Amino acid sequence: MRTTLSILFVLITTISNSQNVYKQTLKLMGSRFDISVVAENEVVGNEYINIATNEIERIERLISSWDKNSQTSLINKNAGVFSVKVDEELFQLIQRSLKISKLTQGAFDISYASMDKIWKFDGSMKEMPPIESISRSVERVGYTNIILDEANKTVFLKLKGMKIGFGAIGKGYAADKAKELLQNKGVKAGIINASGDLNAWGKQPDGKDWMVAIVNPLNKEKVFSWLPVENSAVVTSGNYEKYVKLNGELYSHIIDPRTGYPIKGILSVSILTKSAELADALATSVFVMGVETGLDFINQLKGVECIIVNADNKVLTSKNIELKPPK
Ligand code: ADP
Ligand code: MG
Repeated sequence: MRTTLSILFVLITTISNSQNVYKQTLKLMGSRFDISVVAENEVVGNEYINIATNEIERIERLISSWDKNSQTSLINKNAGVFSVKVDEELFQLIQRSLKISKLTQGAFDISYASMDKIWKFDGSMKEMPPIESISRSVERVGYTNIILDEANKTVFLKLKGMKIGFGAIGKGYAADKAKELLQNKGVKAGIINASGDLNAWGKQPDGKDWMVAIVNPLNKEKVFSWLPVENSAVVTSGNYEKYVKLNGELYSHIIDPRTGYPIKGILSVSILTKSAELADALATSVFVMGVETGLDFINQLKGVECIIVNADNKVLTSKNIELKPPK
């Protein structure tokens, strides 16, 4: 009798402690977000997902350059005229962005954004913009003209018409912040996936690692390889829905800040490292650097790995990562 009871007790506690994955797909920051959390029941799971959603919306209000009322828009509006006082959080994001610009010798540059007027990446462009307008716009690009005042927490864009945008780092930053917040709330495991820019922590309820697919950029149904991720970010650049096709060639929506031209010749770049923010920025950087320089650069960084799909749909990797074909 006693053993039956204790078996029953163990069984009940296991069931009531059983953990499941709860997932929601949401449109945030103009992109698809898939938020998964491990929780004891749906009510708790949804609560956690709401916490993450609110955090991502908060970040969007701060950094969006589409939202006219954001601090970022205020900085852009006052380019060449005034410096703008911003929240510590935005100040630090800009500071880190400038560090990445230095590290990548300008391949990553949040001031790429004044090129927005020249290139349209919705497939609608039919011809090259005039060379003169490209060279005129690219004159306003350059991270060395973003002036930060640490003591007063102000940002000044030196040149009139200059603009900053966080398209290549913002989703990664939001994934990191949402993850951090949920971890602080005691959520043991989950994935914040911002359209392929993801940060995961913990393990699946059955004790197995989360698995992330590296897909064929030309056919998202085809998986090149599955990677186990444990407390790490995997971020992929190379959004095939955003492009411009000119003279029969596909240009991506990533722009070389030094020439003002969009990049062609790489299909996708995935970066693996602890922070999704860093991974996001480095994926864009490697795109601009090109295959050889990009791999060489990543091979010099500790704790960062890279998977490139080149123009011929061939997979190339940095030196410490080995891809196994899917079973
Ligand atoms: P994806 O959207 O494919 O994940 P990225 O993370 O590389 O790609 O982000 C691309 C976006 O970043 C562009 O749509 C644009 O807003 C911005 N961007 C383009 N070129 C640069 C650049 N050289 N440096 C910083 N941001 C860029
Ligand atoms: Mg990026």
